[in-house]
Amino acid sequence: MTPDLLLPTNTIVRPDKDRFLHEENPFEAMMSRFDRAAELLDLEPGIYKVLRHAEKQIITSIPVMMDNGDVDVFTGIRVLYNTSRGPAKGGIRFDLNVTLDEVTALAAWMTWKCAVVNIPFGGSKGGVICDPLKMSAGELERLTRRYTASIIATLGPDSDVPAPDVNTNERVMAWIMDTYSMRMGHTVTAVVTGKPVEMGGSLGRREATGRGCSIVTKEALAHLGMDVKGATVAIQGFGNVGSISAQLLQREGCRIVAVSDRTGGLYNKGGLDVDDAIAWVTAHRTLEGYPKATKITNDDLLTLDVDVLLPAALENVITTKNGANIRARIICEGANGPTTAAADAILDEKGIFVIPDILANAGGVTVSYFEWVQDRGGYFWTEKTVNDRLHEIMQHSFRAVLQLARQHKVNMRTAAYMLSISRVATVHRLRGIYA
Ligand code: NAD
Repeated sequence: MTPDLLLPTNTIVRPDKDRFLHEENPFEAMMSRFDRAAELLDLEPGIYKVLRHAEKQIITSIPVMMDNGDVDVFTGIRVLYNTSRGPAKGGIRFDLNVTLDEVTALAAWMTWKCAVVNIPFGGSKGGVICDPLKMSAGELERLTRRYTASIIATLGPDSDVPAPDVNTNERVMAWIMDTYSMRMGHTVTAVVTGKPVEMGGSLGRREATGRGCSIVTKEALAHLGMDVKGATVAIQGFGNVGSISAQLLQREGCRIVAVSDRTGGLYNKGGLDVDDAIAWVTAHRTLEGYPKATKITNDDLLTLDVDVLLPAALENVITTKNGANIRARIICEGANGPTTAAADAILDEKGIFVIPDILANAGGVTVSYFEWVQDRGGYFWTEKTVNDRLHEIMQHSFRAVLQLARQHKVNMRTAAYMLSISRVATVHRLRGIYA
């Protein structure tokens, strides 16, 4: 181990680093896994230092004309973490809790995620500190356009490609694409992904993350010699990722015994009818009141005795507090960061097979990549082509990570980080560091 690796926290980007050093900090969660993998890879100190820093952090003030005629000023952030493998790729969130630390952590996460599935993107993330629920559509549109104008120098199909994230959607992506295109003087569809299909979005993008989760879950079951048919599954979160994963795993023959959302959980030992539960949520907005199951809490759901636990809602739900009580054989991390770094060791000790977030939920960014490719080529694929290519990439990536895990006798998370960091590091070595 090099001296640099002994003092990892000295190189954390933010000066107030001591605040990071607790279990639930996203930057710390990501960096402690990064450090472990870097140590195992025996990464040279120069590349280690480069990979531990964001390439570019933009903080910008965004004046917005509010509906009442007053001008308000919001803070926008965009972080490009690493672009050595290609254009930066990462979502934009509108939320009161946006901070530079969190955006930086999420941008780094995107770098490793794109590398683990070997798509030619770097990682970025962005956000605006605002409460979108209190803003009108007109205010949100003006905010989006002015934020886009503020970061336009780094945006572009060859440099930085946003996507939807918390509280942003297809509509917001359409505004970004339009603002950017107005500046360029021609339509540039490939500047964002997650767009409406009518204006250059990809078929299959909406289902991609859940589809990816279902593919790697099947791989994990097969690896452990467990039958997909009849495997019991509990899913936290019944939004895009949770509900699609539930639907696709049920179609494969799994028994979805529990699902939950922000209103609580539902349990049915014999298996829930997922399509029926989705229809209920479509009609009632949440799972609350769904009649064909027993109510349980979100905490109960996490500790059910099931074959597969699929957290698909929030960060930091599996921690040192409940890690010892987790009884699932496999955890498929649909959400970003559902397990704290400190809980990893507990799950390892219990022999739980964890498919880490950077691999498990990479189906979304993979189909975003397909969208970018289709936009640039001006030739659009059928949904079957999208799904087949997604399957190939997810299956191949799972197997590559598994092989590395076996070779180095490490868990899947460490192997996934090793694979992605080594891919990014290799490109840095080949390109040479312009220093
Ligand atoms: P979503 O907003 O569609 O759904 C979120 C679900 O979580 C909802 O059912 C909501 O009720 C539930 N939820 C919220 N608070 C909860 C709580 N306290 N307890 C239990 N459930 C709660 O979001 P999504 O797109 O499905 O994303 C879910 C997770 O997956 C997030 O961590 C997201 O970052 C991650 N992710 C999503 C994608 C994607 O393509 N959508 C890609 C990669 C990662």
